[in-house]
Amino acid sequence: MIPTLVLVGRPNVGKSTLFNRLTKTRDALVADQPGLTRDRHYGVGRLGSRDYLVVDTAGFDPVAKDGIMHEMARQAEQAIAEADVLLFMVDGRSGLTPHDQEIANRLRRVDRPVFLVVNKGEGANRAVLGAEFHALGLGAPLVISAAHGDGVHPLLDEIFEVLPPETPPAELEDVGPRVAIVGRPNVGKSTLINTLLGEERVIAFDMPGTTRDAISIPFSRNGREYKLIDTAGLRRRGKVFEAVEKFSVIKTLQAIEQANVVVLVLDASQDVSDQDAHIAGFVLETGRALVLAINKWDSVDSYRREQIKSDVMRKLPFLSFARQHYVSALKSQGISGVMSSVDKAFAAAMAKLSTPKLTRLLEEAVTKQAPPKVRMFRPKMRYAHQGGSNPPIIVIHGTGLEGIPASYTRYLERMFMEAFKLQGTPLRIQFRSST
Ligand code: GDP
Ligand code: GDP
Repeated sequence: MIPTLVLVGRPNVGKSTLFNRLTKTRDALVADQPGLTRDRHYGVGRLGSRDYLVVDTAGFDPVAKDGIMHEMARQAEQAIAEADVLLFMVDGRSGLTPHDQEIANRLRRVDRPVFLVVNKGEGANRAVLGAEFHALGLGAPLVISAAHGDGVHPLLDEIFEVLPPETPPAELEDVGPRVAIVGRPNVGKSTLINTLLGEERVIAFDMPGTTRDAISIPFSRNGREYKLIDTAGLRRRGKVFEAVEKFSVIKTLQAIEQANVVVLVLDASQDVSDQDAHIAGFVLETGRALVLAINKWDSVDSYRREQIKSDVMRKLPFLSFARQHYVSALKSQGISGVMSSVDKAFAAAMAKLSTPKLTRLLEEAVTKQAPPKVRMFRPKMRYAHQGGSNPPIIVIHGTGLEGIPASYTRYLERMFMEAFKLQGTPLRIQFRSST
């Protein structure tokens, strides 16, 4: 499972600066998507071939006691409980404060590795700057500058030292799609899961020993096998499955990472919220195949139906690649449609795209509409090949490709999507220029 790094520290020490730096790599992939707003607290980064989840607890103060601060403290506690590694950030310029001490007291009770990160260390003597923070009793301070990037790579190297080694995704293709059913609290995920698993044959599976272990539930439907990735610690009680834990953003994001196809559940009786949009944005960033299930269709009248349809189009325009279904998990309506779209989305995500066909389509597209000149030169695209699956990646080789505008990339994307009938999966285009 993708490891989770949680940033903790009092305000202004530089958590969001470090967060931005740690999540920059993946951001670039979908930077040009219209309508996409990011969640500033949850993001994914990559070091070499390894992805990690980063959570910034900025604004949720782990030692606050009352009111809204208390709710934030609860969220910070949840993030701390679900972290694989904690990064406790302090400010090297302002030195050790009583607030740092309080947070340190909390973190000394955590049974996970804690890294003490001294920020704003640019141009300073590292040993001197770090020295006073030894007193926190959280091990040797690591001095970095989040703003300049100094020490960030070594910090990540140290973090990956203490994490269990990466496990290769061996069982990826042997049992059909891994499906994650995600959405904010109360949209009807558990109901949908029970409807789905109640109808179908659940294949025996092992329950994990602790709630921190994720489970996936194998089931078959119409002779096809699936694995349902759990997002909230599902347990079986009698005939039904129930979520043992409260909604967890971290678990949701981890499940999306692990899935081949994501079913994003929305509630037709409610407007699309920021939380819906953030989860949707994360699906897009990870490149997972996607099916939209707009649930509780039974409970809304035709006026509301039109309203929610246009709300989805307006607020989630970047999900236009996904099929939409209007369902009732409670009344078991529309579920077959969802599953058939899951199959199609999975097939699209795993499609094999042949080099000759890709190259021919590319030539045709350029003949129809050439990329705009960059300064004096027109970018020249020579050939294309497939560079990956789930999401399909198309690598285009040529010269002067750095200057190709996002609008032209989207034109190519649309063309390839139509030609290969790739509905249900995002597509990535990468350019490789040989001088
Ligand atoms: P947060 O409240 O912990 O999320 O802190 P921010 O990331 O918002 O940073 C607080 C302030 O510290 C901002 O003005 C940043 O520009 C500044 N800052 C962050 N990292 C560094 C750094 O490495 N060096 C210096 N000198 N300033 C930094
Ligand atoms: P979760 O938090 O996303 O797992 O949501 P639940 O499955 O626990 O559902 C939240 C509430 O919505 C429960 O009261 C369900 O009975 C109700 N609900 C779920 N699906 C539907 C549906 O299709 N129609 C209606 N009317 N209510 C539903």
